[in-house]
Amino acid sequence: MTARVLVVDDIISNVKLLEAKLAAEYFEVVSALNGEQALARVAAEIPDIILLDVMMPGMDGFEVCRRIKANPKTAHVPIVMVTALDQPSDRITGLEAGADDFLTKPVDDTALFARVHSLVRLKMMTDELRMREETGQSMGLVDPGEAMVDSDSPGRILVVDDRPESVAWYRTALEPKNKVTTIETFDEALLRARGDDFDLIVVSLGIRAFDGLRLCSHLRSIPEARGAPILVVVSEGETRKLAQALDMGVNDYLMRPVDRNELQARVRTQLRKKRYADRLRHNVQLSLEMAITDQLTSLHNRRYMARHLDTLMKNASPTKPISFLVLDIDYFKSANDTHGHDSGDSVLKEFAGRIAANVRGIDLACRYGGEEFVVVMPDTDTTFAYTVAERLRESVEQTPFPLARPPGSIRVTVSVGLACSLGGDDTADNLLYRADQALYRAKREGRNRVIAEAA
Ligand code: GH3
Ligand code: MG
Ligand code: MG
Repeated sequence: MTARVLVVDDIISNVKLLEAKLAAEYFEVVSALNGEQALARVAAEIPDIILLDVMMPGMDGFEVCRRIKANPKTAHVPIVMVTALDQPSDRITGLEAGADDFLTKPVDDTALFARVHSLVRLKMMTDELRMREETGQSMGLVDPGEAMVDSDSPGRILVVDDRPESVAWYRTALEPKNKVTTIETFDEALLRARGDDFDLIVVSLGIRAFDGLRLCSHLRSIPEARGAPILVVVSEGETRKLAQALDMGVNDYLMRPVDRNELQARVRTQLRKKRYADRLRHNVQLSLEMAITDQLTSLHNRRYMARHLDTLMKNASPTKPISFLVLDIDYFKSANDTHGHDSGDSVLKEFAGRIAANVRGIDLACRYGGEEFVVVMPDTDTTFAYTVAERLRESVEQTPFPLARPPGSIRVTVSVGLACSLGGDDTADNLLYRADQALYRAKREGRNRVIAEAA
């Protein structure tokens, strides 16, 4: 794994030392000697991780951290504070400034690489989603405003520990702000993680009944629980265990004896990250949906239909025919000319609604372009498709379409061409062509009718 590391320290020998260690592990290292320089560096090129000294003349590390985390462009970059300070209160200040972890000077190699590797790996998992969200935004698919939500709403937390006094202690520390569930056994922990939607799982590695690390590794392999961050609690000196935990994808850790404020701060950080990742995933999903949806009618668009029809045709056979309808509103141009383009748009919306109301859930209704629509009907023969098309045609003809401005209504009719897959080497293109020919006949023979392709 290679990554770009920004090392910030006002003492040049400290910078050189970290630089040498990281370069030996093939990290790309850039450095800054004070807060202002660090911010300029970050603005010029966003690093994958920042190792940040706390005590620096001028702007201290906490302030640098706060500024980087306050900027939506850089908030996702992990920051490890490198400090000679070792008081819980300093750690709290760091965590509240948004720091992801701490290293104590002089920096121990094992601890350094375990943290850096783990944080970079976790960051890379969201990088992919972030890029896709960015693309969605640049295509105008998701609203960039939505990218900044950062509420401190309560989290659903699963605590796995078998010491009654610890369990009680976690409850007091985390409730009532969060909803805490406590579990003592391996199987139940897996069961709950699978079934419930937790925002965070806290695993005590000091648990007596089973191997806590084994539980973490199982949790990481359950798809339903993969989105939930894991926070482990280790005893001081359990460096190997901690390195293993971080290696298997555990998100964060706490050292016993656990400081209550530090627990709360780390929980808050993990919940915030979870929400951020959830939102990214949601937005990516949303932009995927929007990329295949027609904006005006909310039906699928032509691009999606083309792809889907290809897939369907590959699986079509004489016993599993696909029927295909092409629908075109009659004299739509004159409706536009008489009532205006906006009225034309509302006719299209209403028309889409009537299509959706008349087809089955497995049928795929799409706006093909302009006032032309198609319906793909899997596993459907010509006779059945004809009935559906005829019912739809009638529903359009019989009830006039409402118009908002000026209030009133307009009579609409539709012509439909129908074709059915022939199996063998019949292609989507051929099917479309034949349906189009049938539509052309429907128009020629007087409109407001359904014509099936000649058998
Ligand atoms: P025919 O019965 O032969 O189908 O006649 P038609 O007038 O429906 O067909 P034509 O293809 O000549 O005209 C289609 C019209 O649809 C022309 C275009 O301005 C209009 N149109 C295409 N897309 C939209 C749209 O998104 N909104 C509105 N309001 N009109 C559209
Ligand atoms: Mg310093
Ligand atoms: Mg038309």
